[in-house]
Amino acid sequence: MKDETKLVVAGRDPENNHGIVNPPVYHASTVLHPTLADLDQSRERRAQGERGVYYGRIGTPTNFSLEDMVCAIEGGDHCLIYPSGLAAIAAAMLSFLKAGDHILMVDSVYGPSRRFCNSLASRFNVATTFYDPAIGAGIAALIQDNTRIVYVEAPGSQTFVMQDIPAIAEAAHARGCVVMMDNTWASPLYCKPFALGVDVSLQAGTKYIVGHSDVMIGTACANNKAWPELEATSRMLGQTAGPDDIYLAQRGMRTLSVRLKRHWESGLKVAEWLRGQDMVECVMHPALPDDPGHALWKRDFLGASGLFGITLKPCPRSAIAALVDDLELYGMGASWGGFESLILPTDPNAMRTVTPWPYEGQCMRLHIGLEDPDDLIADLKAGFKRLQAAT
Ligand SMILES: *Cc1c(COP(=O)(O)O)cnc(C)c1O
Repeated sequence: MKDETKLVVAGRDPENNHGIVNPPVYHASTVLHPTLADLDQSRERRAQGERGVYYGRIGTPTNFSLEDMVCAIEGGDHCLIYPSGLAAIAAAMLSFLKAGDHILMVDSVYGPSRRFCNSLASRFNVATTFYDPAIGAGIAALIQDNTRIVYVEAPGSQTFVMQDIPAIAEAAHARGCVVMMDNTWASPLYCKPFALGVDVSLQAGTKYIVGHSDVMIGTACANNKAWPELEATSRMLGQTAGPDDIYLAQRGMRTLSVRLKRHWESGLKVAEWLRGQDMVECVMHPALPDDPGHALWKRDFLGASGLFGITLKPCPRSAIAALVDDLELYGMGASWGGFESLILPTDPNAMRTVTPWPYEGQCMRLHIGLEDPDDLIADLKAGFKRLQAAT
């Protein structure tokens, strides 16, 4: 079955739900047992690690619906739901760490994941080495006897640098490390981390899975090898998400294939237009043929999302304000992955320690939504006129 079909059929069972197309939303804490024998059997099944309805926090068919969809598309053996993307990242990392361990973390990682290493993990005596995203098989030289997690994110936050994930995973596995990937940019649809050697794949479901800018949610998918540790620690951390949010994520994911294709095509169109602008120093988008990460993207990814970066030529702050303040179709704010377009000034150097960003001009992150791309370009065109006039 192709992914587009799986997105429609996975995690639904109308025959056992009164013929209703969508899965029900279970609001639950207590789960009752009619007899002592039933209670005993239920406890036994739970002790065996069997998925089931034991207690609200452990999950209901509402959770299973989304978990099954994410596994079916992303390719892991098991999945858990968290109240945000960052909650999934933090729980997954804690699942494999103990005092004295070492993390190898990509330098272009999402900012709060970096802070997790530098503050929470370091408080528990876990050290982190940040590495150049372009390191590839060279990661072997950085692996220590106590390295537990090798973490990748491709393309990386803000500058959209690609990574050679299979090469990194091979070196990491040779030394017994767990390979974790933040796969939010591509969504489960356009990158298959487990086929690239990843053990745990993380999604800020808040972005493309939900797709409508109205829910915070996270997922962690694991292969059979990594699952017991991921599950045990996530359970101990009490991680769960509200059923209405899980339902909305499941519902959003049904249309992922059509939305993402449109984000990809429109994003590329806008990126190409931006590349021709005098005030644009560079465009960072791995699906552009001359992007340094293009060959890796083509080899390992099935498509691109609508998120990419640009760097402007140096200009005063007031000129940047002239560009963004009067845009009609682009909102300014955190997050992305919804149906609407966004633009956000960013600062890669505030977040890097081993791969400083060489440009002086302002970096911007754009999310291209589902609007007509020509309208989006016309809005930017007027904005760049204002920018030029104010420079
Ligand atoms: C947004 C984001 C996260 C965090 O997700 P939240 O749901 O906001 O906690 C993690 N990784 C990447 C790459 C993101 O863009």
